[in-house]
Amino acid sequence: MPSESAIPGRDDLVARDRRCVMHPYAAPLSSAPLFAVERAEGVRLTLTDGRELIDGMSSWWAAIHGYGHPALTAAISAQLGRMSHVMFGGLTHAPAVELCEALVALTPEPLTRVFLADSGSVSVEVAIKLALQFFIARGQPEKRRLVSVLGGYHGDTFGAMAVTDPVNGMHHLFRGALTQHLFAPAPGPAFGAPWSPRALDGMAELLERHAHEVAAVILEPVVQGAGGMRFYHPRYLRELRALCDRHDVLLVLDEIATGFGRSGEMFGCEHAGVAPDILCLGKALTGGTMTLAAALFTERVAETISRGEPRVFMHGPTFMGNPLACSAALASIRLLLGSPWRARVSAIEAQLRRELAPCRALDAVADVRVLGAIGVVELEQPVDMARVQPAFVERGVWLRPFGKLVYTMPPYIIEPAELSRISEAIVGVLSGI
Ligand SMILES: *Cc1c(COP(=O)(O)O)cnc(C)c1O
Repeated sequence: MPSESAIPGRDDLVARDRRCVMHPYAAPLSSAPLFAVERAEGVRLTLTDGRELIDGMSSWWAAIHGYGHPALTAAISAQLGRMSHVMFGGLTHAPAVELCEALVALTPEPLTRVFLADSGSVSVEVAIKLALQFFIARGQPEKRRLVSVLGGYHGDTFGAMAVTDPVNGMHHLFRGALTQHLFAPAPGPAFGAPWSPRALDGMAELLERHAHEVAAVILEPVVQGAGGMRFYHPRYLRELRALCDRHDVLLVLDEIATGFGRSGEMFGCEHAGVAPDILCLGKALTGGTMTLAAALFTERVAETISRGEPRVFMHGPTFMGNPLACSAALASIRLLLGSPWRARVSAIEAQLRRELAPCRALDAVADVRVLGAIGVVELEQPVDMARVQPAFVERGVWLRPFGKLVYTMPPYIIEPAELSRISEAIVGVLSGI
């Protein structure tokens, strides 16, 4: 048997990658640190050079059960034996029907209809289109703008970019090519801080002035993810729900990051006891195995769109309802519901609070915050990724900071000793900068 390193092409994977492969938010001619992964199992990533890393990212919120979970692998394999894909126009199948039933049962009550999309960004496009078609069907096509909030993130496609934070986002770069929407101040106060009756003043003023041309408000419930990793007061959502109703504006909640238990409740909106008109899901939907997202909506939205012109909803991806992805999602939801996820998430929360607290004393650190299975250390200055990324790998953990944020959202199955390795790496690396 040849030794591991004798397998052709393996050693120079990174060099070959650099000649033709693009990575997320990277230069085409990038020399940023890059690591080749051989295997992923449980909470461990094994690099091609044999090093093992404890995963603190869940591959961007997705791998909540860890990697290679036998129940997910079995569900995908079994489905692969029956059919990997058929078109969804005019055809249906058990994996899609069972998944949509499960999503309707799991999400807040008024959500009864499901559109399966291929990625989170596409589910946001679908949500926006649903809101616009709702008002077109009602004979109010002038209600076609959206209200979003500062610090939000909704994806990288053009519709999603246009509702993402205009300062951190890409509005300047693509000025003229993006729809001009309206932005309210970032939601507040912070989660756990005292309520402020002025918290929605900016939002209320915006809706007062623009409701006649606004179809929907879109935001992430309680946790703003890639736009700044901020946690805000759930009461903001309750007051916003009432404002939307008063102004005849739909409420779209983007739970792509928060869905499936990450914030300590199954969905972020449950912190507030609020249900949206349209809900976006993605990321952890398939437990990190396949790409799939969903936009759920209410019977009122469904009936209105069906009655009005053009009577159909104008969206239909080629790979809509992919049976492999639906099977994976169904298995992931069953696994989650059959697990003590709430206890696990709250144990991770308590441990991160305890173990990240020493970061507060560091000069480089501006803030430390934890909610559910999400730990965030905000720095005074953006991190130097060329130094910090390899430093985490040397300490045997996988973390992927961005800007001023070093953060972790580990798989729920992580053991306390493994989580301590992640906390120690964060404290250790940040002590040295
Ligand atoms: C990741 C994310 C998206 C985009 O999802 P993709 O699958 O990357 O297209 C949208 N909204 C939120 C809140 C997200 O975290």
